[in-house]
Amino acid sequence: MNFDAAIIGAGPAGAVTAYELARRRQRVLLVDKAKFPRPKVCGCCLNRGAVQTLNKLGLGPVLAQAVPLSAVCLAAAGHTATIPLPGGVAVSRECLDSALVHAAIRAGALFHDGEARKVAECQAIAQVVIVASGLLGNEAPAEADSRIGAGVVVPAEGVPAFFRRGLVYMAAAAGGYVGLVRLEDDRLDVAAAFDVRFVRRCGGLGPAAEAILAETRWPAIPQLAMLPWKGTPALTRQATPRAGERWFAVGDAAGYVEPFTGEGMAWAIRSAVALAPLAVRAAEDWSASLAREWELTHRRLIQSRQQVCRMVARVLRSPRLTAWAVRVLAVCPALSWPVVASLNRFPPLQLRGARV
Ligand SMILES: Cc1cc2nc3c(=O)[nH]c(=O)nc-3n(C[C@H](O)[C@H](O)[C@H](O)COP(=O)(O)OP(=O)(O)OC[C@H]3O[C@@H](n4cnc5c(N)ncnc54)[C@H](O)[C@@H]3O)c2cc1C
Repeated sequence: MNFDAAIIGAGPAGAVTAYELARRRQRVLLVDKAKFPRPKVCGCCLNRGAVQTLNKLGLGPVLAQAVPLSAVCLAAAGHTATIPLPGGVAVSRECLDSALVHAAIRAGALFHDGEARKVAECQAIAQVVIVASGLLGNEAPAEADSRIGAGVVVPAEGVPAFFRRGLVYMAAAAGGYVGLVRLEDDRLDVAAAFDVRFVRRCGGLGPAAEAILAETRWPAIPQLAMLPWKGTPALTRQATPRAGERWFAVGDAAGYVEPFTGEGMAWAIRSAVALAPLAVRAAEDWSASLAREWELTHRRLIQSRQQVCRMVARVLRSPRLTAWAVRVLAVCPALSWPVVASLNRFPPLQLRGARV
């Protein structure tokens, strides 16, 4: 029971860190309190940048069942616009996260399903601990007015044929937004971010989603409000610090911004790749400068990109601005290209030992 690294949480951040460390011949313990395959509230879309990163890491096969995406259909205030979004994929979190955990195991990591309660307990058996426990592992206070997440998966037989494979449907309104996408098995993933007050007014997560979708011309999904919706804590929060004596936080546990641009998994995967060489150095010989290095790397690589997402989220809070933006995009979808391109492109990593 002596590991170089113990990783708490086997979502994309934890599983990719485990894979990268195991490939560097580190002795890795990956722990998750859930039994896999497990669902997760998520829009289930990976952008092109994330797909390219997985391919470069040799993890392309985890997307074998994923549905290629071609466009996103936006609806707000009675207007609709279709924006091309090539290169991304939709895949259920059951499928993706299990495949990533299996890849980590094949690379040599040991997987244990159980809850890790304290970082200190893990430090007793490992040189370095990676906290990758998602939003629940991020104890920083949420930002004022932060929205909450919600999601449900609709069985294939209950999905109107209108919702086609390969398209993402996004409906935005003053109280929040709802995204819908067909998964690899034709089920419909429905994920949303809501103002808490709006959910209270509507009487629950399902009714809140129905209220937003009712403003579109899309067909209603029978019994949507009756399905077993799951919620998340408030979404937008930045952990401080992100590292300390023999531990690092990565993925949502390090910081998250609400999900309209659908990049959370891309941030998680990319930061896992950046963290791996630092974690190897930390396991060999801990130095406080490694914690500072991680803060700076995270700020440069992830926090700077989260600013675009914040900006979009701010526009969405103004119904007039949102309606105006959708009307303009309906006439000229090309105006979205610079934003879409910047979301898909990650600057190359200039870190010692990083491979992407
Ligand atoms: C409504 C919504 C829609 C979204 N849509 C998208 C999208 O379309 N595209 C996208 O890229 N991102 C999206 N995201 C964001 C994405 O879901 C997250 O950013 C991503 O899952 C972060 O990965 P992670 O590995 O950091 O955490 P997670 O995926 O949350 O994994 C954390 C893991 O840690 C485990 N865990 C927690 N505590 C413990 C413990 N004490 N011991 C052991 N295990 C523990 C959990 O069981 C879990 O498996 C969305 C998020 C929300 C809320």
